[in-house]
Amino acid sequence: MVLSVSTEKPKGKTVIRNVGLMLSGDLKNPILDADSVVSIDGRIDSIGKEADLNTAAADTMIDAKGTTLAPGLIDSHVHPVFGDWTPRQNQTNWIDSFLNGGVTTMISAGEVHLPGRPKDIVGVKALAVTAQRAFDIARPAGVKVHAGAPVIEKGMEEEDFAEMARNGVKLLGEVGLGGVKQGEEAKKMVAWARKYGIQSTIHTGGPSVPGSGLIDKDVVLEADADVIGHINGGHTALPLEQIRCLCEECSRAVEIVHNGNELAALYAMRTTMELGQPERIILGTDSPAGSGVQPLGILRMIALLSSIGEVPAEIVICFATGNTARMRDLDVGLIEEGRAADFVLIDRAQHTAGSTVLESIQMGDVPGVGMVIVDGEVKCGKSRCTPPAETLPEVVR
Ligand SMILES: [Zn+2]
Repeated sequence: MVLSVSTEKPKGKTVIRNVGLMLSGDLKNPILDADSVVSIDGRIDSIGKEADLNTAAADTMIDAKGTTLAPGLIDSHVHPVFGDWTPRQNQTNWIDSFLNGGVTTMISAGEVHLPGRPKDIVGVKALAVTAQRAFDIARPAGVKVHAGAPVIEKGMEEEDFAEMARNGVKLLGEVGLGGVKQGEEAKKMVAWARKYGIQSTIHTGGPSVPGSGLIDKDVVLEADADVIGHINGGHTALPLEQIRCLCEECSRAVEIVHNGNELAALYAMRTTMELGQPERIILGTDSPAGSGVQPLGILRMIALLSSIGEVPAEIVICFATGNTARMRDLDVGLIEEGRAADFVLIDRAQHTAGSTVLESIQMGDVPGVGMVIVDGEVKCGKSRCTPPAETLPEVVR
């Protein structure tokens, strides 16, 4: 198990040159007119044409060989437990596998699979603080896992949220996976969480794991969580007319997941696009789960929504990068000066029918990952999970 200690500050200058296509993660300007990125001590310092940038004295020099650079992908919905192990399917190194699928940041929607997960209030708070600390101190495979997402239980009071916030908790796990399933009760606790800077997600749709229940559109709207978690169900989706109501009647994030209903996924995306609000769409896997662990889950979502959903690939990639970063207030997800230097280098998979990487995604193929970089540091080269990329970048120094 590879753990990198996140308290070690990234150091040095990393130059990525010869980028064939640069995807920004920003819906307003998804393709940048640039072929190089310079990062210093883990932050993006400058972006542009190589001739205009100071690329001298690099500690690490990467030749992209004409491949495509995008922000590292963000999985907005995972259920980690501790380290790089999940008891759900008893797998180890699942986060390392996701890194090989281009994911550099993950957001916990609750550490719900912990065997013996406490449901008393002291235990809920203690687990949240412990999970937040553990993943903050040690990053499995180098992936930034934002965890410590308590699942709210009956009887929690305002002071409980204040106390958790004081101790570093920034997220609520899926509302509805614990004892609180009524709109009125959830609304009160979501508002307390928000008051103390804790972001919330709600389980949407039919029950997932035993112990969870139906959360319909009325409960979602009343609870008013920041993220409409798996709007396409996890797995069982709400009727499409209820999904339409959720898109139309609130302005919260529309989270679409791999482990949900694909028809509902496409419907939710189209409805949100028709409303002219594509910036609300964010992507997750909702894994580990009963249906498994999907290292390529985010890339598969991108290919699904772009191909069958008929949305340009560079736009759909924004759903998994810049949109999520903005919605979750993270310093990643965009190729922008000052942001974390988290990148994925991709190319068209060997023998895809698409002639470019974007065309191949629009035809439903996942791209090949050639390199993944976190805080300016190479975390993996040629992916062991994606189909092989046509061309691979190379570390030349
Ligand atoms: Zn759920």
